[in-house]
Amino acid sequence: MSKPPRKIIATSALIYANGSVHLGHLVEYLQTDMWVRYQRARGNECYYICGNDAHGTPIMLQAEKHGMEPEQFIKKIGAEQLASFKAFEISFDHFSTTHSDVNRELVAAVYQALQKNGDIKSKVIKQLFDPEKQMFLPDRFIKGECPKCGSADQYGDNCEKCGATYAPTDLKHPRSAISGATPIERESEHFFFDLPKYHEKLAEWTRSTGRLQTEVANKLDEWFDSGLQPWDISRDAPYFGFKIPNTTDKYFYVWLDAPIGYISAFKECCKTQKINFEEFWQADSQTELYHFIGKDIVYFHALFWPAMLMSANYRTPTAIKVHGMLTVDGQKMSKSRGTFIKADTYLAHLNPEYLRYYYAAKLTSQPTDIDLNLGDFRLRVNSDLVGKVVNIASRCAGFISKNFGGKLALNFQTIEKSPLPPLFQRGESEEIPPLKKGGGGDLYNEFATAGDAIAEHYENLDFARAVREIMLLADKANQFIDAEKPWQLIKDPTQHARAHEVCTLGLNLFRILMIYLQPILPSMAAKVRVFLNDELIWDQRDQPLLDKVINPFEALMQRIEETQVIAMVEASKTDLQVAEADKPKLALAPTINIDDFQKIDLRVAKIIAATYVEGAEKLLQLSLDLGGETRKVFSGIRASYSPQDLVGKLTVMVANLAPRKMRFGVSEGMVLAASNGEGIYLLNPDSGAKPGDRVS
Ligand SMILES: [Zn+2]
Repeated sequence: MSKPPRKIIATSALIYANGSVHLGHLVEYLQTDMWVRYQRARGNECYYICGNDAHGTPIMLQAEKHGMEPEQFIKKIGAEQLASFKAFEISFDHFSTTHSDVNRELVAAVYQALQKNGDIKSKVIKQLFDPEKQMFLPDRFIKGECPKCGSADQYGDNCEKCGATYAPTDLKHPRSAISGATPIERESEHFFFDLPKYHEKLAEWTRSTGRLQTEVANKLDEWFDSGLQPWDISRDAPYFGFKIPNTTDKYFYVWLDAPIGYISAFKECCKTQKINFEEFWQADSQTELYHFIGKDIVYFHALFWPAMLMSANYRTPTAIKVHGMLTVDGQKMSKSRGTFIKADTYLAHLNPEYLRYYYAAKLTSQPTDIDLNLGDFRLRVNSDLVGKVVNIASRCAGFISKNFGGKLALNFQTIEKSPLPPLFQRGESEEIPPLKKGGGGDLYNEFATAGDAIAEHYENLDFARAVREIMLLADKANQFIDAEKPWQLIKDPTQHARAHEVCTLGLNLFRILMIYLQPILPSMAAKVRVFLNDELIWDQRDQPLLDKVINPFEALMQRIEETQVIAMVEASKTDLQVAEADKPKLALAPTINIDDFQKIDLRVAKIIAATYVEGAEKLLQLSLDLGGETRKVFSGIRASYSPQDLVGKLTVMVANLAPRKMRFGVSEGMVLAASNGEGIYLLNPDSGAKPGDRVS
């Protein structure tokens, strides 16, 4: 009895239209794509919807930097992003943009529904304004000194040195990161969505079965516990986005219109594919909706978005699937190490299916980070795909074409029994289905039956487990061929029939493996369809290919050479140099005179001890020798240094900074360090400098 096909929409997060696709992005798009391809393989009606997120201040400023209109800029970037996704075989049914007419209309309609419900309130708020650029500044575009620890060059929302969060108006000596001007406070009317009104509904919604991974639901409890706040959904001109109806200078905040982009992209898709839009989006829809996202945007998808949908009387998501972030060789992707790898740089050196396979082998249903270990990547792809899977076909195919006219045997009858002990320990209660085709049939049936467990792993996003089971089967198929030795059988005329059946069974086992691997390796599967003259249909896996002509075998996948990986990493370093040359000039702090500078007493200091600080993720405690005096200083350099690396080093400190009481003790000064997105780098005087020397 077969169930009616499920009707499903799956989305990946709309990609921000300001840069290239990189391997970090691809975790999500590949995860979604493999899941979608699995659903389609099972006969479900599954639409994969995506697009780019085109609005907001960063895009407005980037377009300006490139001397383009924002519309022109997002079109160019969007086309590049889509081309990269397609090259990685990501099978969107529709890829749109949030800056579309359909979205503009839908956003206005949703907003009117929220208003009608009394969910929009207006309030005058104070914000920092750049008098030179004549615009209000988003938090990320304001820099200044941390109000808690005094560290320079911190963003308007939180301090990277001490971890404090604050309002941008609390920053000391704030300046605009765009013009360098000192911002002024200015009042403006903003519109707020009444999120607190949905507190109870959301608390229940996020805890309903299957909605969120437990870890994610637990994280959201922190927000519920501290109380939901009204959500500011408006921004002042100049802004790139949709104007709020009946205003002259207010725009929708990008996070209001972005998720509505999922609906409008689907609406566009309905037009071309004749799908019933209402069936999927009405409040009581029986269809399924899944959003695949990274952990950094859970707040928007699991709180604001369902609340908006509830208010505007649309269905809410069936589930939100959160994945972890990508690390490369165990660390955050780094431009200087060449591990910040763009999709196109990867593609210039390597086959996309290598990465699809490696990510699949690492992805689980949990939102834990996944690591692309470049050495393991090469070894694993070579050993699993080339050494195991392709090997099965290449060992059997030649005999079929040379000795049996390219035709598969009639059955597996002479293979009495699989000569192997079972690799799988089945549960006692689990029944092994009866043999269908005589002797070799039990091995065949075992492969076909394993599909039920593999299907479940795909459905649950446990791709790593699916891959593990598939590779156990591949091992088993190879052991079968090793034991039967068709290359010897073929030399003995009395054993020809057996050789024919062994190779036929080998290719049939290979076919089942490719049916299972098809969502991960669509291109290789396409080649196998031609080779076997077969459509690789999931539900036909229990019917072996027999007495059938197949095509000559051609290479399905090449090994990865170490030189290719090295070349990709080197090319990524070159990408960085190009990007650096392209970088805008730093917005500097306001000019000071020599007297201002001389107020700061900088001294060479020797680190005589360094220890971790219990309960402080970012801090190390340093003991500094100032040439006769010892100071204790807390420094936010833990992410970049271990205590043992520091002892004995010379550095530079601000010696006349007022002592500061911190949660962990009093800090008697500050050491100097350079910082950028990659890390923190302690300053080091040249050799000859001694503790206590003045720096001027
Ligand atoms: Zn701070």
